[in-house]
Amino acid sequence: MANCNPLRSPSSALSEVNLGPSANPHAKPTDFDFLAVIGKGTYGKVLLAKLKADNKFYAVKVLQKKVILKKKEQKNIMAERNVLLKSLKHPFLVGLHYSFQTPEKLYFVLDYVNGGEIFFHLQRERCFLEPRARFYAAEVASAIGYLHSLNIVYRDLKPENILLDSQGHVVLTDFGLCKEGVEPETTTSTFCGTPEYLAPEILRKEPYDRTVDWWCLGAVLYEMIYSLPPFYSRDMSELYDGILHKPLPLPPGKSDAVCSLLQGLLQKDQHCRLGAIDDFLEIKNHVFFSPINWDDLYHKRITPPYYPNVKGPADTQHIDPEFTREMVPNSVGRTPELNASTSSNSAFNGFSYVCGEEDSFL
Ligand code: ADP
Ligand code: MG
Repeated sequence: MANCNPLRSPSSALSEVNLGPSANPHAKPTDFDFLAVIGKGTYGKVLLAKLKADNKFYAVKVLQKKVILKKKEQKNIMAERNVLLKSLKHPFLVGLHYSFQTPEKLYFVLDYVNGGEIFFHLQRERCFLEPRARFYAAEVASAIGYLHSLNIVYRDLKPENILLDSQGHVVLTDFGLCKEGVEPETTTSTFCGTPEYLAPEILRKEPYDRTVDWWCLGAVLYEMIYSLPPFYSRDMSELYDGILHKPLPLPPGKSDAVCSLLQGLLQKDQHCRLGAIDDFLEIKNHVFFSPINWDDLYHKRITPPYYPNVKGPADTQHIDPEFTREMVPNSVGRTPELNASTSSNSAFNGFSYVCGEEDSFL
């Protein structure tokens, strides 16, 4: 099957990648006006772009084939592609429109999600009250449950991969570390993830399974409630020691329900972790989520606890200003004064992303 050999010649960074059914052979970078860098990741950048043909905004994730090859992680990227191309459809997962490539790069054309990263809001507000944390955790859990039902382990759940749409609903992005084909009984042992959110079995380089995602949900919920990830320490060896050996600190002032859920999800022994037997069903039925009607949640009938108040599809007020600063004037020669508080739709008029040598997008 064509999908199995994504890079026909792995030794060449310029090889043609088989992008499968979502590949749009007619698409090219010049179809877009690239407006701003909205995120940076391990393999490339995510750009805000306007498709000239329909004047709509998209988030285009650009991955450099050369970097992928250098990191010898073709498999991960291809897992991302495969996962995205599996026509995953869920209200809380980012949608992929199509993909295309140039000799050097892969392009994934995604919905532009502009309510900001949960991380962005969490940093601003320090922590969320329980009802708000419950709502986000429930939407995240619902998306994770869906991925698990397709035998996909997400593995990279952390606040910067959880975005809010313009209405305040969760959108999970970044399928870079998703592993396909992880059946309930099978395990996989590639070491990856972000230190603060690493489950003990991953730290120990032991085989792990889909319950790793429930640990990560616990870590994200913990950070939303307590403002720092569990066992947090600047000292890496202390952090690791905490994750592996220390009992979970649960400072007072929180409900019994949330403490019980955190203890269940952040259970060091993956076999005893909440979700180990009936997966999402166990999470759904936990008392902390008793105020949630899961059917209403799925159909977005629950009003989000926070409204991002974005002005339009290109409003970047919730994007890290460090990224939007990378926007550079085009030939018109004006410099947009973009920052977190002043950016708006109109700030983009007349500007486009101009690429350095490293970043020739066109
Ligand atoms: P990586 O795999 O390199 O971590 P991500 O897919 O997580 O890359 O993207 C990096 C950042 O770009 C995210 O943390 C988010 O801030 C932003 N981002 C990604 N996808 C979108 C999107 N569809 N809409 C808006 N911002 C996005
Ligand atoms: Mg990411």
